[in-house]
Amino acid sequence: MKLQEYQSKQIFSRFGISIPRGRVAATAIEAKHIAEELGNRVVIKAQVLVGGRGKAGGIRLAKNPHEAEDVATSILSMDIKDLPVRKVLVDEAANINKEIYLAISDDRGAGKPLLMASASGGIDIEEIAHSNPEMIMKVHIDPLLGLRDYQARDVAATIDLPRTFWRGFIETCRCLWHVYLETDASLVEINPLVITADNRLLALDAKIVLDDNALYRHPDLVEMRDQDSEAEAEVEARKYGLSYIKLDGEIGCMVNGAGLAMASMDIIKLFGGEPANFLDIGGGASSEKVAAALRIILTDTNVKAILFNIFGGITRCDEVARGILSALKDVKTNIPMVARLVGTNAEEGRRLLADANMVTAETLAEAAQKAVSIVEGARNEHPGK
Ligand code: GDP
Ligand code: MN
Repeated sequence: MKLQEYQSKQIFSRFGISIPRGRVAATAIEAKHIAEELGNRVVIKAQVLVGGRGKAGGIRLAKNPHEAEDVATSILSMDIKDLPVRKVLVDEAANINKEIYLAISDDRGAGKPLLMASASGGIDIEEIAHSNPEMIMKVHIDPLLGLRDYQARDVAATIDLPRTFWRGFIETCRCLWHVYLETDASLVEINPLVITADNRLLALDAKIVLDDNALYRHPDLVEMRDQDSEAEAEVEARKYGLSYIKLDGEIGCMVNGAGLAMASMDIIKLFGGEPANFLDIGGGASSEKVAAALRIILTDTNVKAILFNIFGGITRCDEVARGILSALKDVKTNIPMVARLVGTNAEEGRRLLADANMVTAETLAEAAQKAVSIVEGARNEHPGK
């Protein structure tokens, strides 16, 4: 789960990291009032859960409250990477002397947290990671010992931070480590951490990604989930305990098991199709769950065919087939469907679905080929679509 910048900043601040004065607003009038309160030049920042807001025009300076209102009006009417902007953060603008990158993330390969820092902070850190990886300093943190001050000092020296800022930088690293630890984050990032013209260290941007598997320990953080800013289908999927990720293809997939879902997507591509989504309905899929999954797949208007790929283990195939049939009573559709069932009571399951005029298949390859040819057939009937 990702937190918005303004939420991440509040948490950073609680742990002792300096952030600019500011508040979040949902309307342009509110933004104007905040600018009046701050009584200074402000920066208006789109609150959306994607990077590169700056480049997309979602971050703009305003000289006075009147301008803040205008800028907020225009940013609040934007979509950034398909996400509508519903809130803006209005912060006191900073005069920047230097932009630093600082983050702690899980290094899965090493099985340890990794502290990363670079003297070239700002908007293009991904590009730097790609073109000049040596400009990003990396230090592993022993999870039992925690971040040691000497490690942070080493980093400060390596990125050529002027000595006067070392103490503040080490303190910021220490605070960031505590945020990472206490919130069970998988990423905490300050990009940029700036040195201001009046020689302060300030976190101008903030990003926290929480580990979903640890959310049960943080009811206060779960509260912060911004459902407005998530795709509706994903909110709906979570409600039913489904893992759903929308993609751009035409073949909707309903699969039990994450590995099987990945394999289904691969094989669709192998036969020249494109999956419309990743969807794992998990074990013990009830007809209620199957119906929710179907509804979610069908909200995607790109979907031209649906592929069911079910492995019957503890959940029997005939049970899933009945689930699909009863779901189809609730969810009316004429999108063609292909079902591949294997495992416990597969024949019975296939017979139930064949009786309901659904295309069935025994192997995954056969099922994928059938789904792909349905989509191609539809395309030939309606050329240009
Ligand atoms: P991102 O593009 O989504 O990562 O958004 P950031 O919050 O990192 O802002 C992008 C860039 O906007 C920063 O690297 C700064 O160069 C600039 N910026 C953000 N806040 C301020 C500010 O208060 N004053 C000035 N002068 N520039 C800012
Ligand atoms: Mn940033």
